[in-house]
Amino acid sequence: MKQGAELRQALVAAVAKVIEQHAEELTALDQAIGDGDHGINMKRGFEAVAADAASLAAKPLPEFLKGAGMTLVMKVGGASGPLFGTLFMTLGKELPIEPTAADIVKAFRAAIVAVQARGKAEAGHKTMLDVLIPVAEQLESGNLDLDALAARAHAASEATKPLKAIRGRASFLGDRSIGHMDPGARSSALMIGAVVDVLKEVA
Ligand code: ADP
Ligand code: MG
Repeated sequence: MKQGAELRQALVAAVAKVIEQHAEELTALDQAIGDGDHGINMKRGFEAVAADAASLAAKPLPEFLKGAGMTLVMKVGGASGPLFGTLFMTLGKELPIEPTAADIVKAFRAAIVAVQARGKAEAGHKTMLDVLIPVAEQLESGNLDLDALAARAHAASEATKPLKAIRGRASFLGDRSIGHMDPGARSSALMIGAVVDVLKEVA
């Protein structure tokens, strides 16, 4: 069973892989309602995290998450870099070295609050938060089933299609943003799916 540094390294590898595999899809989504750089931004960021995976994973969980978050801020760029960076850095700040399930539920909400403080977006604004918030709510409801969390994230990303963008570059399109999935919502669901797949192996 993977644990500690080995588990952290597996998580980085899985997230970097899913982003790489879907980079073109993320770019296409961002071409529809943004500037077409989300796939390349995310790929660049997670390649940088993966390149540093061995030394990052050797650190305790809080430092590992903070380090990954800082790399994302530096390498992803765009609007999403600082926001995903804030998500991971806040998780690192909030989580103890050996978190309980309750610690994780609490830290995930705190990380979302930090993303909201930074990006001034709410639920329904057609952003990554439209995946992150429903997943946080499911965790808070006490449903910690890993498959159910991945399914919630996936359904929530699909549910951004009919929304009109209120924040981010897609908001410049107004009603024309309707009918397209939000790229950051999709990348959030992909990351959550990848984390779930790794955690299922160790659960
Ligand atoms: P940019 O919009 O600068 O080109 P990206 O294309 O990398 O950056 O990322 C776009 C994604 O970032 C959007 O699909 C959305 O999910 C997310 N996003 C943009 N602005 C915000 C915000 N204020 N709050 C939360 N998420 C946001
Ligand atoms: Mg973009």
